[in-house]
Amino acid sequence: MTVREIVLYPNDVLTTPTEPVAEVDDEIRQLVRDLVDTMYDAPGVGLAAPQIGVLKRVAVIDVSGPEERSDLKVLINPQIIDRKGAITWEEGCLSFPRLYEKIDRAHDVVIRALNEHGETYEIEASELLAVALQHEIDHLDGVLFIDRMSHLKRRRALKKYKKILEDLENDEESEDASFTSGLTGE
Ligand code: ZN
Repeated sequence: MTVREIVLYPNDVLTTPTEPVAEVDDEIRQLVRDLVDTMYDAPGVGLAAPQIGVLKRVAVIDVSGPEERSDLKVLINPQIIDRKGAITWEEGCLSFPRLYEKIDRAHDVVIRALNEHGETYEIEASELLAVALQHEIDHLDGVLFIDRMSHLKRRRALKKYKKILEDLENDEESEDASFTSGLTGE
């Protein structure tokens, strides 16, 4: 099991479009396994290769959650081939810890992708799965959920996120401090 470090915003790798996979080989299958391990460990319902620093058109999704682990979708070179309707969903992103924002998406999508065996397949999805698919495919195009917000909303969200990052850093520092004092207390 290989849990990779998740790249946090801001980082150029998150806003760079990925390269399509030319051949589904062992290297790609290893990437898929790393993505799955990292997604379940996080835990999250989806993870795209750029989020572990790899600019390849590969993502994984499991909306059943890390406990259930019964609905894994491996998406290699995914394309949205149909979309309809509209839905607003409160989304999070592993590259934006603790930030949750409402985003407008298509209610239903049809996706065509390759699986880990290099076979073409399609997914017809609605609601949460459709939202997750659109979110992850956006990642592969270098598009983030903040890019789907109005300018005003995006500005507010980034302000909130800046505060979250500061809090996370402070949390880490206080954890380090208690670890150190624990040692010196012996
Ligand atoms: Zn994301």
